[in-house]
Amino acid sequence: MTKQRQLIFEILSEMRGHPTAEQIFLEAKRRMPSIAMGTVYRNLGLMVDAGEIRRVVIANEPDRFDHTLAPHHHMICIRCGQVTDIASGDMRAYIEKLAGLEIESYDLSIRYICPACREKYSPHA
Ligand SMILES: [Zn+2]
Ligand SMILES: [Zn+2]
Repeated sequence: MTKQRQLIFEILSEMRGHPTAEQIFLEAKRRMPSIAMGTVYRNLGLMVDAGEIRRVVIANEPDRFDHTLAPHHHMICIRCGQVTDIASGDMRAYIEKLAGLEIESYDLSIRYICPACREKYSPHA
């Protein structure tokens, strides 16, 4: 594993909340000023392909990256865009039971208002 790739993996396991490629790049640059944006983007792609990390695709938002590989889903705050894990497990078997057929894949999009935003916009605050 290259030094750059190791650094990216480290940052991803330390940063909470599923950072975007840009956020990872900014942190990587802080620690390794010589690192190029293209290097970070390319390595993220390679790491996703190798199954070392996961890409979280959210409609109308930049992709996020996740180092948690165990099956789980994501809840996206509609106010601040923060992504939170929900330990829901893999729902494939459940969906296949409902459908009575084998499925190829599924997308689950969960939107909510996170506790911090709920407090911030509360009329009682
Ligand atoms: Zn929020
Ligand atoms: Zn996650």
